[in-house]
Amino acid sequence: MKTIPLVIGNWKMNKTIAEASALVKSILAMGPNFKDCEAAVAPPATALFSVGELLKGSQLRLCAQNVFYKESGAYTGELSPLFLQEVGCQYVLIGHSERRQYFGETDADVAKKLHAALAHHLTPVVCVGETLQQRNEGLTVKVVTSQIKKAFEACSVAQMEKVVIAYEPIWAIGTGVNATPLQAEEVHQVIRKSLADQFDKILASKLRILYGGSVKASNAKELKAQPNVNGLLVGGASLDAQEFVAIMRA
Ligand code: PEP
Repeated sequence: MKTIPLVIGNWKMNKTIAEASALVKSILAMGPNFKDCEAAVAPPATALFSVGELLKGSQLRLCAQNVFYKESGAYTGELSPLFLQEVGCQYVLIGHSERRQYFGETDADVAKKLHAALAHHLTPVVCVGETLQQRNEGLTVKVVTSQIKKAFEACSVAQMEKVVIAYEPIWAIGTGVNATPLQAEEVHQVIRKSLADQFDKILASKLRILYGGSVKASNAKELKAQPNVNGLLVGGASLDAQEFVAIMRA
């Protein structure tokens, strides 16, 4: 099923407020085409408010890089979904491999965060993907389907309609080595099949599955050309306005 492609720029732990504001102004000044593409940027938490203000009246959306599953309380350092709503976020990344690797996020945390996001009208972008060792051992399908199953096991079809999935092979993140379009397509097919089995075929055909991992302007077009790739999650290349807009155009 044809869906409008979605491109999200994950700025990770980069950009001061001044730098983030300058970057978003440059992106908007280039007049990206929002007719055939939905796009969002994910600045660090400290810059969400300022960037959100600059995005008002534009079609570029605001995405958070993380969320906690409680609304308030004694959770020092965490970000409530209410705070994200307040600054105008529409999307939130959940279970990025860097969160899983460095902050011990588990599939159970991912599921709880996903439900908190949905309850606060934030579109969760749930990230899944295998390590290089898992790929080399032939475990990609097993790892990815297990992450999908556990993330969405308590979801209804109606909730699933609001979800975005990002396949991000860990070996391709920040390494300059992207999955080939065929490798990406193979796993996207597996994810869609797994969702069809877990829910239903029509829902699975409508869900947006993004690819992420060393996406650049030079490889975006061929990755996006794959039938089951519905958009791109871009890290390093999204820190450059020209490169990000070129990816959106691709
Ligand atoms: C990411 O952080 O989600 C990502 C895909 O990073 P990069 O594009 O730098 O590989």
